[in-house]
Amino acid sequence: MSEPVADSAGHCILIDTEICVGSTLCVQLAPDTFVLDARGKSQVIPTGVPDDETMDDVIGSCPTQAIGLVEGANPRRIEH
Ligand code: SF4
Repeated sequence: MSEPVADSAGHCILIDTEICVGSTLCVQLAPDTFVLDARGKSQVIPTGVPDDETMDDVIGSCPTQAIGLVEGANPRRIEH
């Protein structure tokens, strides 16, 4: 069972798999947080949210704006 993941403000990471194009930028910027699944879509490793600066970089670098922060304690994906 993975531990809940949230930043200090109580936000978790949300990934929209329909618009993720597998660029790997999130993986390169935060390899302890993101990996690509078998379909080449980003998913969160439930070990912790990166620091705010890194998370801002990840969100700003995603070419399709597939990553966001939402209220809640567990990372999740919009599956398509
Ligand atoms: S940066 Fe965005 S498009 Fe690239 S793998 Fe991560 S979520 Fe997908």
